[in-house]
Amino acid sequence: MKYASTLTLTSGPASAVASVEASARRGIPHWSMAGLTGTLERIRACLVQSGFSIPFATVLAHVTPAGKKAEPQMDLAIAASLLSALELLPQNSILLAHSPAVIGCLSLSGNILPAGDLAPMLLSAARAGVRTVVVPESQKNQAVIPDLKYAFARSIQDLMKPLVELEGRAARFEIKTQDSEMDYLRLPESVERAVAIASAGWHSILLMGPPGTGKSSCARAIAGLLPPPDETEAIEIRSIHPEMGNTISRPVRIPHHSSTLTALLGGGNPVRAGEVTRAHNGLLILDELAEFSRPVLQSLREPVQEQIVRISRGNDSAILPARFLLAATSNPCPCGHRDDPRTRCTCGDHQIRSYIQKITGPLLDRLDLQVDVPAAGGAEISSHVTKIRVARAISRQKHRFGKGSLRFNGLLPPDRLKDMISLSQSGRKYLEGVCAPSFRRLHSLLRVSRTIADLDDCEEVHDSHLLEAFHYSCSDYFRINGPGNA
Ligand SMILES: [Zn+2]
Repeated sequence: MKYASTLTLTSGPASAVASVEASARRGIPHWSMAGLTGTLERIRACLVQSGFSIPFATVLAHVTPAGKKAEPQMDLAIAASLLSALELLPQNSILLAHSPAVIGCLSLSGNILPAGDLAPMLLSAARAGVRTVVVPESQKNQAVIPDLKYAFARSIQDLMKPLVELEGRAARFEIKTQDSEMDYLRLPESVERAVAIASAGWHSILLMGPPGTGKSSCARAIAGLLPPPDETEAIEIRSIHPEMGNTISRPVRIPHHSSTLTALLGGGNPVRAGEVTRAHNGLLILDELAEFSRPVLQSLREPVQEQIVRISRGNDSAILPARFLLAATSNPCPCGHRDDPRTRCTCGDHQIRSYIQKITGPLLDRLDLQVDVPAAGGAEISSHVTKIRVARAISRQKHRFGKGSLRFNGLLPPDRLKDMISLSQSGRKYLEGVCAPSFRRLHSLLRVSRTIADLDDCEEVHDSHLLEAFHYSCSDYFRINGPGNA
């Protein structure tokens, strides 16, 4: 009898690889598991029910890393470690021959039961370098990570079998594009252009204007212009959205302005994903930005800038993905009718200033495009043409970036800007004259101008592209008041 260790996974959006260690030595029968002897007793009963003849032994088991508790989906891994420590498995069994990660709940009769949503666990296993996994046969359709070798098991007895008897294929999934709302919009040309730039290059956008000008529909229209997720993105989306099943599209999240910090960023114990994570690889729409609470707006800076969110709970912390495209809308003042020729604004200077200040400062610096949506409706635009142009700009980027995870200019890290953005002579000259308030703003200007050049089918970025990017870098509503320092 000996020591054995079996890989398994913790559950939830912050799933991580854990292992169950067991040691067995001949002696008085005594089974204990750090903190959870009941679990071990249950699994012992299940082994006996399944016909294993358990030798007299003192057995000790626990979950590592230290501090992790045994969770229901670790039942099968605990059983596997015990069988292995008690030397009850044949050498050619999947467990001894392949050291797989094992996921599954157990009934007392020894049947393997569903283990919650598998996708986040499988993604985490693949990222940790695990090659083979044992999962419940009843959850075959959730085996969506293509890089893993799957063994589908029905009962605890299946752990005795070699891989070939259990092996099955990864489940197929379908990738879908979002429907476009753009077909029904009448937009001024400059707004339509800004929406196309935001969608083509994954640039965050703020739409400012009086009520009823279609700001929210504009923000939603971006979803229909984004390309479908690639395979890696789709898997990441699936691991956060079990409700999508095997038809995956970019998520669109529209949290209400009364949302709490936890609802937006995530948290709790066990950790739950917040809206910023639920919008990962998709669109996060914040309607009426100034109505969100100040702490919520401040807290968005990290995910907008770093594309992740750090959640601390006690001594522990979790990092969840949060690479979303932010589309925000706002009225220009509390009543909404500042500079609106149709209705008189009833707000005082002080009211307007404090309203605007709430969305300015650090967050404003992270919004690449700031667009004024005028009260007068625009001409009919052809969404079909916009779609084609956006798709072409996206394929130009794909060609430039080559293989790798980068797909959009808006996600270019600062150290790659120089390689990826070639300026023409006029572009260089223009840039020398630009006085950007911060490096972040300057980098944003370069990324946006690269996307504008892509929309214009231009390999080099000219002064006209930079000028247009600069035009979109600050709303007129902020120019009048000057940037706030909230
Ligand atoms: Zn007003």
